[in-house]
Parts: sequence; C-alpha cells; structure tokens
Amino acid sequence: MPLDFVTLLAITAINLCMLAAVLPLIMGAGVSRAARSVQASLMLQALGWVALIVSTRVRGTVWDQLLSTASMAAIAGAQWALFIALRDWLGPRPGARWVPVLVVAIPLGYTLGFGHYAFRVGWSNFLLAALVLTVARATLMPQRPAPGRWRMLLCACLLLMAGFTAARGALGAFTSAYPSFSTPHPVNVGSAIAANITAVLGIVALMVAWRTEAEDRLRALATTDALTGIANRRGFDLQAQALLADALHTRESVTAVMFDLDHFKRINDTHGHDVGDRALELFASLLRDVLPAGGLAGRLGGEEFVALLKHAADVPAAQELDHRLRGRLAAATGQHLGFSLGYSAGTATVSPHRMPAPVHLRTDLMARADAALYRAKEQGRGHLLEAAVAA
Ligand code: GH3
Ligand code: MG
Ligand code: MG
Repeated sequence: MPLDFVTLLAITAINLCMLAAVLPLIMGAGVSRAARSVQASLMLQALGWVALIVSTRVRGTVWDQLLSTASMAAIAGAQWALFIALRDWLGPRPGARWVPVLVVAIPLGYTLGFGHYAFRVGWSNFLLAALVLTVARATLMPQRPAPGRWRMLLCACLLLMAGFTAARGALGAFTSAYPSFSTPHPVNVGSAIAANITAVLGIVALMVAWRTEAEDRLRALATTDALTGIANRRGFDLQAQALLADALHTRESVTAVMFDLDHFKRINDTHGHDVGDRALELFASLLRDVLPAGGLAGRLGGEEFVALLKHAADVPAAQELDHRLRGRLAAATGQHLGFSLGYSAGTATVSPHRMPAPVHLRTDLMARADAALYRAKEQGRGHLLEAAVAA
C-alpha cells in the first residue's frame, strides 16, 4: 500500500487541529498554567504542521521560506510550551536554559541557511531532535510526587519523535537521495506515522497528567485547614502515618504535643470572631515556624492544635518547642493582636524500643497527650504538662 508523506502529515495536522480546538472547550475556563501550556503546545504543533503542508504548495516563492520558517518556529515553540507544563507539574527541570535558546536557534538558522537545502534540513532537524530529547528528559525524576505511567508514555512518545527527527536530519544533511522533505523514503513515511501515533498517545498521557493535577488540588483542599493553611485533622492523620513509619525506620522517638488556646471563647466575645480568626492564624503560623525539620503540625478543630515530632530519645523535644512557641507568641501578639494569647499543652512520647509494636497514634500517643493537656488546664492553664510514661 503506497503511503503518501504529505497525506499522512495532513491527517496528523487535522487530528492536531481538532484536538487543539476541542481541548480548551472540554477543559473549561480557569485551568492551571500547565493545562494552558498543553493547550498552547497542541495549537502550535497543529499550526506548525499546517504551515509546513501549505509551504509544499508554494515551492519556489517567498511564501515557501516564510511558511516553513514559521512552521519551524511553531513546532519548536510547541516543545517549549510542553516543557513549561512539565516544569509546573514536576518542579524545576534540567535544561531550562537551553530550551529557549534552541527554540530561537531552530527557525533562525533555518531561515538564514534557507538557500542551502542540506544545511537547513540538518540544522533544523538535529536541533529539534535535541529539543525534543530535552523535553523527554524533563519527564524523568520529578521533584514532586507524580505517577510514573503518564510520564513514561509521554517520554516514549518524545523519544520516538526525537529518533525520527534526527534520522530525517541525517538523510537531508548527508544523502543526496533526499531532495525534498516529502520524499516517500521509509524514514519519512515512518516519521509521519509516528507523528500521528505519538500525537494520540501523547495527548492521552497529558490528559492523565491533568487529571492527576486536579486530584492533587482536591486532595490538598481536603487535607488543609482553610483558615490557617496547616493540615486539618484528615491531613494530619495521613501525614502522621508517614512520620511514624519514618521514625520506626530511623529508630527515633516520636512526641505528640496537643495545644488548646486558653479562654478563647472570651477572646471571641471581647474582640469579635474576626479577631479570633486572626489569633488562630497567628498561632498556626508561629507553630509552623518553630516546628523542627521533619515535624508535622495540624489543626484538629476549633482552637485545638497538634504537633508531631521525631527526635533522638534523649532530646526534650516538646519542652524546646513549647519554649520557642511561647517566646514567639509573646513577641508577636502585642503587635498583631493587641492582647496576649495563652495556651495550655500536653505531651506524650513513644520511644524507639516500643516501636516494633504498632503505635496507635490516636490511642497511644494523642490520647495520653490530651490527658496531660486536660491536667494542665485544671492546674491553672498557660503551661505544658507531660503525660505519664506508657506502661
Ligand atoms: P479553655 O481555656 O478551657 O480552653 O476555654 P476556651 O474558651 O478556649 O474553650 P471553649 O471550648 O469553651 O471555647 C472554644 C471557643 O473557640 C468556642 C468557639 O466559638 C471558638 N472557636 C472555635 N473555632 C473557631 C474559629 O474557627 N474561629 C473563631 N474565631 N473561634 C472559634
Ligand atoms: Mg478547646
Ligand atoms: Mg480553649
């Protein structure tokens, strides 16, 4: 079956145009920058292929150079937009400085060397292959938790395209049996088929990435306290499990500190609910500030907070945290609230030699810390009490 290169390319372009037109409609308004970058990438890719096909119809005119240069710029720009989406999803990506350089160099060298066929084909395809490889590498080693499956699929698509692009560059630059980019050479036909397949599979990978982003955003909403921005009860429970597992692994002690603001109802009654809210925000932000690395803070509800710390067995972690927090609170409340804000706290620790037995966060640790907090309240408030050592 004879496969015509330009026909195959036209089908790819039609597919991409359809996807580029439909994607903003199905994604809706208010999507993230990463999602908008994916839309822009598809649009540029579609425009690039269309410009390339049209340029084959105006051979030998000034339009040929204009359109094919614009096509190179659009196809390179599409990779840049994809790189931006990956950076937003996965954190800082290697090669960020090279991407814009390549995106400018590809169409610039192409148009400056337009009169020399082998040069322009070699230049544009080799640099484009390098650009696509840089984007492929950007799918690997994420700085943020990200599922591997969509990244692997996208990476495979990009590697395939980089391979075909480099092969087209080699044919154009080093062989004379390659007078036009639309010659029905197996490399050309293969690359047109690959462009079609990778457009479809690439969009599947990107849709999964977008869904993952939406899930992450919902999970963050469901696990974060809206007022203070620290973990809510659900978020705390989830992260606490990871902290406990980590401490078991490193043979460290784990300490829970429960906090309850003193006479908070009075603050609301005297200064109003909005000022009460500000006091809660201030307390949470100071708690987060004084939390040692690897610690965890959460708002359990109302004016009750918790901190979970892992530390060496002989470190009085709760006392140190309490000391720092009271100091910061005393310094900040006058300026931020105009009145002082006190709290009572209770703490309990589980040491590593107990760790092999499962630690039940709520019953073993937090209930004991809570009992100590209750006693601190009874004994006049404004201080930290330690729970009795567990049996
Ligand atoms: P104690 O020293 O015994 O802890 O006394 P308290 O007044 O702090 O304790 P109580 O449980 O009687 O009151 C807690 C108050 O916290 C009552 C509630 O209106 C207030 N509160 C709970 N959540 C919020 C909130 O999100 N914003 C504001 N402003 N107040 C809240
Ligand atoms: Mg309370
Ligand atoms: Mg209270």
